Amino acid sequence: MDFDRFFTQSLNSLREDGNYRVFIDLQRRCGAFPNASQTDGAVRRDVRIWCSNDYLGMGQHPKVLTAMHDALDRCGAGAGGTRNISGTTHDHVLLEAELADLHQKEAALLFTSGYVSNWAALGTLASKIPGMIVFSDALNHASMIEGVRHSRAQKVIWKHNDLADLEEKLAAADPDAPKMIAFESVYSMDGDIAPIAQICDLADKYGAMTYLDEVHAVGLYGPRGGGIAEREGLMHRLTVIEGTLGKAYGVVGGYIAASAALCDFVRSFASGFIFTTALPPAIAAGAAASIRHLKVSQVEREAQQARVAQVRARLDAQGIPHLPNPSHIIPVMVGDPVKCKFLSDTLLDEFGIYIQPINYPTVPKGTERLRITPSPVHTDADVDHLVAALSDLWQRCQIARMPMAAQ
Ligand code: PLP
Repeated sequence: MDFDRFFTQSLNSLREDGNYRVFIDLQRRCGAFPNASQTDGAVRRDVRIWCSNDYLGMGQHPKVLTAMHDALDRCGAGAGGTRNISGTTHDHVLLEAELADLHQKEAALLFTSGYVSNWAALGTLASKIPGMIVFSDALNHASMIEGVRHSRAQKVIWKHNDLADLEEKLAAADPDAPKMIAFESVYSMDGDIAPIAQICDLADKYGAMTYLDEVHAVGLYGPRGGGIAEREGLMHRLTVIEGTLGKAYGVVGGYIAASAALCDFVRSFASGFIFTTALPPAIAAGAAASIRHLKVSQVEREAQQARVAQVRARLDAQGIPHLPNPSHIIPVMVGDPVKCKFLSDTLLDEFGIYIQPINYPTVPKGTERLRITPSPVHTDADVDHLVAALSDLWQRCQIARMPMAAQ
Protein backbone atom coordinates (compact mmCIF):
# COMPACT_ATOMS: atom_id res chain seq x y z
CA MET A 1 0.00 0.00 0.00
CA ASP A 2 1.15 3.53 -0.72
CA PHE A 3 0.60 4.81 2.82
CA ASP A 4 1.50 8.44 2.20
CA ARG A 5 -0.89 8.57 -0.76
CA PHE A 6 -3.64 7.27 1.50
CA PHE A 7 -2.83 9.90 4.16
CA THR A 8 -2.74 12.70 1.60
CA GLN A 9 -6.06 11.70 0.03
CA SER A 10 -7.76 11.53 3.42
CA LEU A 11 -6.38 14.94 4.36
CA ASN A 12 -7.47 16.41 1.03
CA SER A 13 -11.05 15.40 1.64
CA LEU A 14 -10.89 17.05 5.07
CA ARG A 15 -9.62 20.22 3.35
CA GLU A 16 -12.41 20.13 0.76
CA ASP A 17 -14.99 19.97 3.56
CA GLY A 18 -13.35 22.93 5.29
CA ASN A 19 -12.58 20.70 8.28
CA TYR A 20 -8.79 20.55 8.07
CA ARG A 21 -7.24 21.82 11.29
CA VAL A 22 -4.51 24.42 10.99
CA PHE A 23 -2.52 25.17 14.14
CA ILE A 24 -1.61 28.76 14.85
CA ASP A 25 2.00 29.10 16.00
CA LEU A 26 1.76 31.34 19.07
CA GLN A 27 4.04 32.73 21.72
CA ARG A 28 2.01 33.78 24.72
CA ARG A 29 3.42 36.83 26.44
CA CYS A 30 3.58 36.25 30.16
CA GLY A 31 2.08 39.22 31.97
CA ALA A 32 0.41 40.48 28.78
CA PHE A 33 -1.99 37.60 28.03
CA PRO A 34 -4.33 37.60 26.00
CA ASN A 35 -1.65 39.26 23.86
CA ALA A 36 0.64 36.90 22.01
CA SER A 37 2.77 36.87 18.91
CA GLN A 38 2.10 34.63 15.98
CA THR A 39 4.76 33.23 13.70
CA ASP A 40 3.52 32.60 10.17
CA GLY A 41 6.46 31.58 7.98
CA ALA A 42 8.86 34.50 8.10
CA VAL A 43 6.19 36.89 9.41
CA ARG A 44 5.69 37.61 13.09
CA ARG A 45 2.69 39.62 14.26
CA ASP A 46 0.81 40.61 17.39
CA VAL A 47 -2.47 38.86 18.08
CA ARG A 48 -5.12 38.95 20.79
CA ILE A 49 -6.40 35.55 21.79
CA TRP A 50 -10.18 35.28 22.21
CA CYS A 51 -10.53 31.50 22.31
CA SER A 52 -8.30 30.36 25.14
CA ASN A 53 -9.43 28.00 27.88
CA ASP A 54 -7.05 29.78 30.27
CA TYR A 55 -10.39 31.30 31.25
CA LEU A 56 -9.16 33.46 34.12
CA GLY A 57 -5.60 34.21 33.00
CA MET A 58 -4.24 32.05 35.84
CA GLY A 59 -1.53 30.77 33.48
CA GLN A 60 0.33 34.02 34.18
CA HIS A 61 -0.75 34.63 37.78
CA PRO A 62 2.25 35.61 39.96
CA LYS A 63 1.34 33.11 42.71
CA VAL A 64 1.23 30.28 40.19
CA LEU A 65 4.50 31.29 38.56
CA THR A 66 6.28 31.71 41.89
CA ALA A 67 5.12 28.29 43.07
CA MET A 68 6.32 26.72 39.84
CA HIS A 69 9.71 28.45 39.92
CA ASP A 70 10.19 27.46 43.56
CA ALA A 71 9.32 23.83 42.88
CA LEU A 72 11.56 23.72 39.83
CA ASP A 73 14.48 25.01 41.91
CA ARG A 74 13.64 22.66 44.78
CA CYS A 75 12.94 19.46 42.84
CA GLY A 76 14.27 19.80 39.32
CA ALA A 77 12.32 19.15 36.14
CA GLY A 78 10.49 15.83 35.99
CA ALA A 79 8.95 13.54 38.61
CA GLY A 80 11.33 10.80 37.57
CA GLY A 81 8.88 7.93 37.55
CA THR A 82 5.36 6.64 37.64
CA ARG A 83 3.42 7.42 40.80
CA ASN A 84 4.19 3.89 42.00
CA ILE A 85 7.90 3.90 41.23
CA SER A 86 9.44 7.01 42.82
CA GLY A 87 7.20 9.57 41.04
CA THR A 88 4.97 10.54 43.99
CA THR A 89 6.49 13.75 45.30
CA HIS A 90 5.20 15.76 48.22
CA ASP A 91 3.78 18.30 45.74
CA HIS A 92 1.52 15.60 44.28
CA VAL A 93 0.33 14.62 47.75
CA LEU A 94 -0.43 18.23 48.66
CA LEU A 95 -2.27 18.82 45.38
CA GLU A 96 -4.49 15.77 45.86
CA ALA A 97 -5.35 16.99 49.36
CA GLU A 98 -6.18 20.43 47.92
CA LEU A 99 -8.48 18.83 45.33
CA ALA A 100 -10.25 16.58 47.84
CA ASP A 101 -10.90 19.65 49.99
CA LEU A 102 -12.08 21.67 46.97
CA HIS A 103 -14.83 19.16 46.25
CA GLN A 104 -15.39 18.16 49.88
CA LYS A 105 -14.59 14.54 49.09
CA GLU A 106 -12.52 12.05 51.07
CA ALA A 107 -9.86 11.77 48.38
CA ALA A 108 -8.67 12.86 44.96
CA LEU A 109 -6.47 11.28 42.32
CA LEU A 110 -4.29 13.09 39.81
CA PHE A 111 -3.83 12.19 36.15
CA THR A 112 -1.67 13.66 33.43
CA SER A 113 -4.64 15.40 31.78
CA GLY A 114 -8.40 15.75 32.02
CA TYR A 115 -8.67 13.53 28.97
CA VAL A 116 -6.69 10.77 30.67
CA SER A 117 -8.65 11.14 33.92
CA ASN A 118 -11.95 10.52 32.09
CA TRP A 119 -10.59 7.77 29.92
CA ALA A 120 -8.89 5.95 32.80
CA ALA A 121 -11.42 6.49 35.59
CA LEU A 122 -14.56 5.87 33.55
CA GLY A 123 -12.91 2.99 31.73
CA THR A 124 -11.82 1.35 34.97
CA LEU A 125 -15.09 1.81 36.86
CA ALA A 126 -17.16 0.61 33.91
CA SER A 127 -14.99 -2.40 33.12
CA LYS A 128 -14.26 -3.59 36.64
CA ILE A 129 -17.72 -3.34 38.19
CA PRO A 130 -19.41 -6.51 36.95
CA GLY A 131 -22.49 -5.91 34.78
CA MET A 132 -22.16 -2.11 34.87
CA ILE A 133 -24.46 -0.17 32.51
CA VAL A 134 -23.24 3.35 31.69
CA PHE A 135 -25.88 5.98 30.89
CA SER A 136 -23.95 8.56 28.89
CA ASP A 137 -25.23 11.99 27.82
CA ALA A 138 -25.28 12.24 24.00
CA LEU A 139 -22.94 15.25 24.03
CA ASN A 140 -20.32 13.89 26.40
CA HIS A 141 -16.71 14.72 25.60
CA ALA A 142 -14.59 12.36 23.48
CA SER A 143 -12.54 11.36 26.54
CA MET A 144 -15.66 10.04 28.30
CA ILE A 145 -16.88 8.28 25.17
CA GLU A 146 -13.49 6.64 24.68
CA GLY A 147 -13.31 5.58 28.33
CA VAL A 148 -16.68 3.88 28.17
CA ARG A 149 -15.92 2.32 24.78
CA HIS A 150 -12.62 1.00 26.08
CA SER A 151 -14.38 -0.57 29.09
CA ARG A 152 -16.62 -2.65 26.80
CA ALA A 153 -19.41 -2.14 29.33
CA GLN A 154 -22.99 -1.78 28.11
CA LYS A 155 -23.60 1.84 27.13
CA VAL A 156 -26.95 3.60 26.87
CA ILE A 157 -26.89 7.06 25.32
CA TRP A 158 -29.56 9.45 26.54
CA LYS A 159 -30.64 12.61 24.75
CA HIS A 160 -28.59 15.60 25.79
CA ASN A 161 -29.81 17.07 29.12
CA ASP A 162 -33.17 15.31 28.61
CA LEU A 163 -34.40 14.04 31.99
CA ALA A 164 -37.46 12.26 30.56
CA ASP A 165 -35.29 10.31 28.13
CA LEU A 166 -32.79 9.46 30.87
CA GLU A 167 -35.54 8.22 33.16
CA GLU A 168 -37.13 6.17 30.41
CA LYS A 169 -33.80 4.48 29.76
CA LEU A 170 -33.02 3.91 33.44
CA ALA A 171 -36.48 2.41 33.99
CA ALA A 172 -36.05 0.05 31.02
CA ALA A 173 -32.75 -1.36 32.32
CA ASP A 174 -32.34 -4.41 34.55
CA PRO A 175 -33.19 -3.10 38.05
CA ASP A 176 -30.46 -5.24 39.60
CA ALA A 177 -27.65 -4.12 37.26
CA PRO A 178 -25.13 -1.59 38.65
CA LYS A 179 -25.58 1.71 36.84
CA MET A 180 -23.61 4.87 36.29
CA ILE A 181 -24.86 8.20 34.88
CA ALA A 182 -22.00 10.03 33.15
CA PHE A 183 -22.46 13.68 32.21
CA GLU A 184 -20.89 17.15 32.21
CA SER A 185 -21.89 20.33 34.03
CA VAL A 186 -20.96 23.04 31.49
CA TYR A 187 -20.93 21.65 27.93
CA SER A 188 -17.95 23.21 26.25
CA MET A 189 -19.28 23.86 22.76
CA ASP A 190 -22.85 25.05 23.45
CA GLY A 191 -22.10 26.40 26.94
CA ASP A 192 -25.33 24.97 28.35
CA ILE A 193 -25.52 23.51 31.87
CA ALA A 194 -26.87 20.14 33.00
CA PRO A 195 -29.75 19.86 35.49
CA ILE A 196 -27.46 18.25 38.08
CA ALA A 197 -29.96 18.08 40.98
CA GLN A 198 -32.59 16.32 38.88
CA ILE A 199 -30.04 13.91 37.48
CA CYS A 200 -28.97 13.09 41.05
CA ASP A 201 -32.66 12.54 41.93
CA LEU A 202 -32.92 10.00 39.12
CA ALA A 203 -29.65 8.40 40.20
CA ASP A 204 -31.08 7.98 43.73
CA LYS A 205 -34.36 6.62 42.40
CA TYR A 206 -32.67 3.99 40.20
CA GLY A 207 -29.68 3.27 42.42
CA ALA A 208 -27.08 4.64 39.98
CA MET A 209 -23.72 6.20 40.76
CA THR A 210 -23.01 9.60 39.16
CA TYR A 211 -19.89 10.74 37.28
CA LEU A 212 -19.76 14.47 36.61
CA ASP A 213 -17.19 16.14 34.35
CA GLU A 214 -16.70 19.72 35.64
CA VAL A 215 -13.78 20.47 33.34
CA HIS A 216 -15.31 23.72 32.04
CA ALA A 217 -16.58 24.80 35.46
CA VAL A 218 -13.88 24.21 38.07
CA GLY A 219 -12.25 27.43 39.19
CA LEU A 220 -15.07 29.40 37.55
CA TYR A 221 -18.23 28.67 39.51
CA GLY A 222 -19.05 28.23 43.18
CA PRO A 223 -17.76 30.32 46.10
CA ARG A 224 -14.47 28.38 46.16
CA GLY A 225 -14.28 27.48 42.47
CA GLY A 226 -15.60 23.95 43.05
CA GLY A 227 -17.76 24.19 39.93
CA ILE A 228 -21.49 24.16 39.21
CA ALA A 229 -22.08 21.37 41.73
CA GLU A 230 -20.54 23.56 44.43
CA ARG A 231 -22.56 26.60 43.32
CA GLU A 232 -25.75 24.55 43.59
CA GLY A 233 -24.83 22.84 46.87
CA LEU A 234 -24.73 19.40 45.22
CA MET A 235 -21.16 18.17 45.54
CA HIS A 236 -22.09 15.65 48.25
CA ARG A 237 -24.65 14.05 45.91
CA LEU A 238 -22.15 13.15 43.20
CA THR A 239 -20.17 9.91 43.34
CA VAL A 240 -17.29 11.21 41.21
CA ILE A 241 -16.37 14.77 40.25
CA GLU A 242 -13.80 15.01 37.49
CA GLY A 243 -11.89 18.15 36.54
CA THR A 244 -8.88 19.61 34.79
CA LEU A 245 -5.97 21.75 35.93
CA GLY A 246 -5.40 22.94 32.37
CA LYS A 247 -8.25 25.38 31.84
CA ALA A 248 -9.37 27.83 34.56
CA TYR A 249 -6.44 26.78 36.76
CA GLY A 250 -4.05 27.67 33.95
CA VAL A 251 -1.60 24.74 34.24
CA VAL A 252 -2.10 21.12 33.07
CA GLY A 253 -3.35 17.82 34.50
CA GLY A 254 -6.63 16.16 35.40
CA TYR A 255 -8.20 14.54 38.43
CA ILE A 256 -11.11 12.79 40.03
CA ALA A 257 -12.45 13.51 43.52
CA ALA A 258 -14.55 10.85 45.24
CA SER A 259 -14.61 8.52 48.25
CA ALA A 260 -11.31 7.18 49.53
CA ALA A 261 -12.30 3.66 48.47
CA LEU A 262 -13.21 4.71 44.90
CA CYS A 263 -9.98 6.70 44.41
CA ASP A 264 -7.93 3.85 45.84
CA PHE A 265 -9.72 1.45 43.49
CA VAL A 266 -8.95 3.57 40.41
CA ARG A 267 -5.38 4.15 41.68
CA SER A 268 -4.95 0.39 41.95
CA PHE A 269 -6.59 -0.77 38.71
CA ALA A 270 -6.44 2.02 36.09
CA SER A 271 -3.64 1.41 33.61
CA GLY A 272 -3.86 5.05 32.44
CA PHE A 273 -2.96 6.06 36.00
CA ILE A 274 -0.43 3.36 36.83
CA PHE A 275 1.73 3.04 33.74
CA THR A 276 2.70 6.64 33.01
CA THR A 277 5.17 9.13 34.41
CA ALA A 278 3.73 11.41 37.08
CA LEU A 279 3.28 15.10 36.36
CA PRO A 280 6.38 17.21 37.13
CA PRO A 281 6.37 18.48 40.73
CA ALA A 282 6.49 22.08 39.46
CA ILE A 283 3.20 21.49 37.64
CA ALA A 284 1.62 20.08 40.79
CA ALA A 285 2.89 23.02 42.85
CA GLY A 286 1.60 25.57 40.31
CA ALA A 287 -1.81 23.92 40.10
CA ALA A 288 -2.09 23.78 43.90
CA ALA A 289 -1.24 27.50 44.13
CA SER A 290 -3.88 28.28 41.51
CA ILE A 291 -6.56 26.26 43.30
CA ARG A 292 -5.64 27.77 46.69
CA HIS A 293 -5.90 31.28 45.25
CA LEU A 294 -9.25 30.68 43.54
CA LYS A 295 -10.68 29.15 46.71
CA VAL A 296 -10.56 32.54 48.37
CA SER A 297 -10.47 35.11 45.58
CA GLN A 298 -13.68 36.14 43.82
CA VAL A 299 -12.02 38.92 41.79
CA GLU A 300 -11.19 36.80 38.75
CA ARG A 301 -14.59 35.07 38.60
CA GLU A 302 -16.50 38.34 38.97
CA ALA A 303 -14.40 40.13 36.36
CA GLN A 304 -14.80 37.25 33.93
CA GLN A 305 -18.57 37.20 34.32
CA ALA A 306 -18.73 40.97 33.79
CA ARG A 307 -16.63 40.65 30.63
CA VAL A 308 -18.84 37.83 29.31
CA ALA A 309 -22.00 39.91 29.90
CA GLN A 310 -20.41 42.90 28.18
CA VAL A 311 -19.41 40.91 25.08
CA ARG A 312 -22.86 39.31 24.84
CA ALA A 313 -24.59 42.72 25.07
CA ARG A 314 -22.31 44.21 22.45
CA LEU A 315 -22.90 41.28 20.07
CA ASP A 316 -26.65 41.62 20.61
CA ALA A 317 -26.47 45.30 19.73
CA GLN A 318 -24.88 44.34 16.41
CA GLY A 319 -27.25 41.43 15.81
CA ILE A 320 -24.42 38.93 15.75
CA PRO A 321 -26.02 35.59 16.59
CA HIS A 322 -24.74 33.70 19.60
CA LEU A 323 -26.23 30.94 21.71
CA PRO A 324 -27.99 32.42 24.75
CA ASN A 325 -26.56 30.02 27.32
CA PRO A 326 -26.05 30.63 31.06
CA SER A 327 -22.25 30.13 31.05
CA HIS A 328 -19.04 31.94 30.17
CA ILE A 329 -18.80 30.36 26.70
CA ILE A 330 -20.08 32.48 23.80
CA PRO A 331 -20.63 30.41 20.65
CA VAL A 332 -21.08 32.81 17.72
CA MET A 333 -23.01 30.76 15.20
CA VAL A 334 -21.90 30.71 11.55
CA GLY A 335 -23.42 27.44 10.31
CA ASP A 336 -21.02 26.83 7.44
CA PRO A 337 -17.51 25.32 7.71
CA VAL A 338 -15.95 27.26 4.85
CA LYS A 339 -17.36 30.61 6.02
CA CYS A 340 -16.33 29.81 9.56
CA LYS A 341 -12.75 29.17 8.50
CA PHE A 342 -12.76 32.26 6.29
CA LEU A 343 -14.01 34.43 9.18
CA SER A 344 -11.36 33.05 11.49
CA ASP A 345 -8.58 33.54 8.92
CA THR A 346 -9.68 37.10 8.16
CA LEU A 347 -10.00 38.02 11.83
CA LEU A 348 -6.41 36.91 12.25
CA ASP A 349 -4.94 38.36 9.06
CA GLU A 350 -6.70 41.72 9.04
CA PHE A 351 -7.50 42.40 12.68
CA GLY A 352 -4.95 40.41 14.68
CA ILE A 353 -7.79 38.60 16.46
CA TYR A 354 -7.38 34.90 17.02
CA ILE A 355 -10.55 32.79 17.32
CA GLN A 356 -10.19 29.20 16.19
CA PRO A 357 -13.07 28.02 13.94
CA ILE A 358 -15.01 25.13 15.47
CA ASN A 359 -16.14 22.77 12.75
CA TYR A 360 -17.30 19.14 12.39
CA PRO A 361 -16.59 16.67 14.02
CA THR A 362 -16.17 18.81 17.16
CA VAL A 363 -19.71 20.15 16.54
CA PRO A 364 -22.48 18.79 14.27
CA LYS A 365 -22.42 19.86 10.61
CA GLY A 366 -24.43 23.05 10.08
CA THR A 367 -23.60 24.38 13.57
CA GLU A 368 -20.07 25.61 12.83
CA ARG A 369 -19.12 28.46 15.09
CA LEU A 370 -16.58 30.84 16.53
CA ARG A 371 -16.29 30.00 20.22
CA ILE A 372 -15.42 33.14 22.16
CA THR A 373 -14.14 32.99 25.74
CA PRO A 374 -13.88 36.44 27.34
CA SER A 375 -11.60 36.63 30.35
CA PRO A 376 -10.73 39.10 33.09
CA VAL A 377 -7.55 39.99 31.21
CA HIS A 378 -9.40 41.29 28.14
CA THR A 379 -9.89 45.07 28.22
CA ASP A 380 -12.69 47.42 27.09
CA ALA A 381 -10.54 48.30 24.08
CA ASP A 382 -10.19 44.58 23.24
CA VAL A 383 -13.98 44.23 23.28
CA ASP A 384 -14.45 47.31 21.05
CA HIS A 385 -11.92 45.92 18.60
CA LEU A 386 -13.51 42.44 18.57
CA VAL A 387 -17.07 43.65 18.05
CA ALA A 388 -16.09 46.14 15.33
CA ALA A 389 -14.18 43.41 13.47
CA LEU A 390 -17.03 40.90 13.69
CA SER A 391 -19.55 43.50 12.58
CA ASP A 392 -17.41 44.46 9.60
CA LEU A 393 -17.05 40.80 8.57
CA TRP A 394 -20.73 40.03 9.05
CA GLN A 395 -21.45 42.88 6.61
CA ARG A 396 -18.81 41.79 4.12
CA CYS A 397 -19.76 38.10 4.16
CA GLN A 398 -23.49 38.82 4.08
CA ILE A 399 -24.14 36.62 7.10
CA ALA A 400 -27.62 36.90 8.58
CA ARG A 401 -27.96 39.09 11.67
CA MET A 402 -30.36 38.62 14.54
CA PRO A 403 -33.54 40.74 14.43
CA MET A 404 -32.60 42.78 17.51
CA ALA A 405 -29.74 44.40 15.60
CA ALA A 406 -29.44 48.12 16.26
CA GLN A 407 -27.83 48.96 12.93
N1 PLP B 1 -13.67 16.98 29.45
C1 PLP B 1 -14.17 17.95 28.69
C2 PLP B 1 -15.62 18.23 28.74
C3 PLP B 1 -13.33 18.72 27.86
O1 PLP B 1 -13.83 19.68 27.08
C4 PLP B 1 -11.94 18.44 27.85
C5 PLP B 1 -10.99 19.21 27.01
O2 PLP B 1 -11.27 20.09 26.29
C6 PLP B 1 -11.49 17.40 28.65
C7 PLP B 1 -12.36 16.69 29.44
C8 PLP B 1 -10.03 17.06 28.67
O3 PLP B 1 -9.35 17.89 29.55
P1 PLP B 1 -7.80 18.20 29.32
O4 PLP B 1 -7.72 19.30 28.33
O5 PLP B 1 -7.28 18.57 30.68
O6 PLP B 1 -7.19 16.94 28.80
